[in-house]
Amino acid sequence: MAHRLITHLLKDLTNMRTKIIAGNWKMYKDLNESAELLNGLKTKLAVLPNGVKAIVCPPFTSLALAKTLLEGSPIAIGAQNMYHEDEGAFTAEISPKMLKSVGCQYVILGHSERRQYFKETNEFINTKAKKALASGLIPIICVGETLEEREKNITDQIVSVQVKGCLKDISSADAEKLIIAYEPVWAIGTGKVATPQQAQEVHQLIRKLIGQLYSWATAEKVVLQYGGSVKPENAKELLHQPDIDGALVGGACLKADSFAAIVQAAA
Ligand code: PEP
Repeated sequence: MAHRLITHLLKDLTNMRTKIIAGNWKMYKDLNESAELLNGLKTKLAVLPNGVKAIVCPPFTSLALAKTLLEGSPIAIGAQNMYHEDEGAFTAEISPKMLKSVGCQYVILGHSERRQYFKETNEFINTKAKKALASGLIPIICVGETLEEREKNITDQIVSVQVKGCLKDISSADAEKLIIAYEPVWAIGTGKVATPQQAQEVHQLIRKLIGQLYSWATAEKVVLQYGGSVKPENAKELLHQPDIDGALVGGACLKADSFAAIVQAAA
């Protein structure tokens, strides 16, 4: 009996996924404003809680500054997008090689704003995810339904198509490294947050789907973030759902105090 209990506990412990909190700065913060926020975060998050990672994703123009100012800090750096070539005549695009040279370890792909305003498709996001992984960057792949889709009761269908499309031809070894952010479009920047139960339901669906596409062992390793009006006040409950392993934060990451409080809530 005791042996079975210990085996069970050990299994739970080894299955424990790191909580990852990422801040998507979007098109906010010029160089001076970025320096102020980065310095604030460096002070407030000088030490991260056990089992928690923090990532900042500033605009491209502030990435090199982030690399310099976050020297010696446990905060990691990510980009908000990338192109799937190392170099070439692709005006205004940024390659994974360039991102790595300014200290990026992560890259957000397929954010709903990229899907909505720049017509990014699952196929295109999949191409970029494969390139990111081949280049040693960890993609944070965003999926999520619109309000209309939720009201039509097709959330599961929409999210499943997005996850399958974005993971196409990605090996299980690579799938284990990536992060999927479930961000219901109706909750992004609107102040309307999904209830912990609504978020958990979709996270569970995504994990089950990864289990079907790969194996349960892979599904248990993939980090699933929730995004959509996460704030210090609602972070704890969301982050303690069994299948929610972190958060992708927009508005609340633009102030050092609130981002640091969300990171602390993940502990
Ligand atoms: C986002 O842009 O990914 C996001 C979740 O934004 P917000 O937290 O402002 O809703």
